[in-house]
Amino acid sequence: MAKEIILAENAGFCFGVKRAVDMATQYYDCEGVRVNTLGPLIHNNDVINRLAEHGIHAIDQGQIDSLDQNDVVVIRSHGITPQLHAQIAQTQARIVDATCPYVATIHKKVERHYRLGYQIVIVGDQSHPEVIGINGHCDNTAIITRDGSELPDFDPDQKICVVSQTTERLANFERVLAVVKSRCREVAAFNTICSATKTRQESAAAVAQIVDLMIVIGGKNSSNTKKLVEISKANCSNTIFVENSLELPLDLIAQEQFQKIGITAGASTPDWVIEGVIEQIQSISS
Ligand code: SF4
Repeated sequence: MAKEIILAENAGFCFGVKRAVDMATQYYDCEGVRVNTLGPLIHNNDVINRLAEHGIHAIDQGQIDSLDQNDVVVIRSHGITPQLHAQIAQTQARIVDATCPYVATIHKKVERHYRLGYQIVIVGDQSHPEVIGINGHCDNTAIITRDGSELPDFDPDQKICVVSQTTERLANFERVLAVVKSRCREVAAFNTICSATKTRQESAAAVAQIVDLMIVIGGKNSSNTKKLVEISKANCSNTIFVENSLELPLDLIAQEQFQKIGITAGASTPDWVIEGVIEQIQSISS
């Protein structure tokens, strides 16, 4: 019997990632300039390989000083620190800034409140490039926390500004905010969790609740995809995580007990990878 496949709404590329990929692909096979992305453009090896086939390669920060006016540098949707931006500008390379507008809004809020004397608190992962970029907008003075446990005993008169990594879970943001509010009198809080993340997470949960097997597609190092895996597992114990159709455990999927199969995908997963997974499942169940 053919399997029923339910694709979650809002699976795959979000607005900011699609924008960044579109900005980079304008430079496919470009002659006369070297096209670089600062770090992998998105957390998806299939996309990175396709970009490389068209002459677009990732460089790391250690290579910035060897750039010159013949280089194009695409800043990815996570954004970067102003210090790094200035370092690239000095090389005279052309900067294509694909920072997601939602992330750029956080940069502005942080800059403004830092100037007004607020201690910035970022709810998120201190090693994530987006968080590193945000921190640069307050001279790297932010306190970065996941759950509030690392927060110091602030002076109650210290003004605090709380923002969040765009992909953070709402429960973590609320937990940190509760701790800050219990210790300080003046708190400016901005829930900067991106709605693309929220709607993707909600639709993944809704699908995972009604299927026998849930498949989450995305890069193994993509934090938003890993969160979709967590959420799917909480709602469907049979959840598997693959990067593309080549990783599908076809023997498992073919089992009779798995008639309804749900699919969702992280923000860095292009449509053609999702379609490849669906086609592969259809081919074993028809
Ligand atoms: S998840 Fe949201 S903030 Fe992040 S790149 Fe996508 S649209 Fe922008």
